[in-house]
Amino acid sequence: MSEEACIFCKIIAGVIPAPHLATNDEAIAIADISPVAPTHYLIVPRRHEENAVALHRGNPAELGALFALVDELTSREGIADYRLVFNTGAGAGQSVFHAHLHLIAGRAFSWPPG
Ligand code: AMP
Ligand code: ZN
Repeated sequence: MSEEACIFCKIIAGVIPAPHLATNDEAIAIADISPVAPTHYLIVPRRHEENAVALHRGNPAELGALFALVDELTSREGIADYRLVFNTGAGAGQSVFHAHLHLIAGRAFSWPPG
């Protein structure tokens, strides 16, 4: 997918409006449009890479920036129990090929995941 066609690049550029729940220089947090739990945020790096490992290869510090937003959101909202997920590859459930970290909380989660 080209960056021009990428929905998360459009959100980061402001072409598609989405409230920014938290931001830093490298990443933004938005609400998932189709939540799977009472709390479902997406932590999205500003720089387009297909997945988390590609992001790490390009600049490991950007992964840290994603986790800084997890820290900010969970601290601010008092979320103690949550799940963090990088779906990587279509076979693992990835549907948007711009790296993003799911932060989901607010209900019990089963293990192993479906
Ligand atoms: P994944 O399937 O892991 O690639 O996750 C992509 C996520 O992006 C899904 O949970 C979608 O519900 C979410 N999503 C798709 N389009 C938007 C949008 N415009 N705003 C917010 N979340 C979106
Ligand atoms: Zn993108």
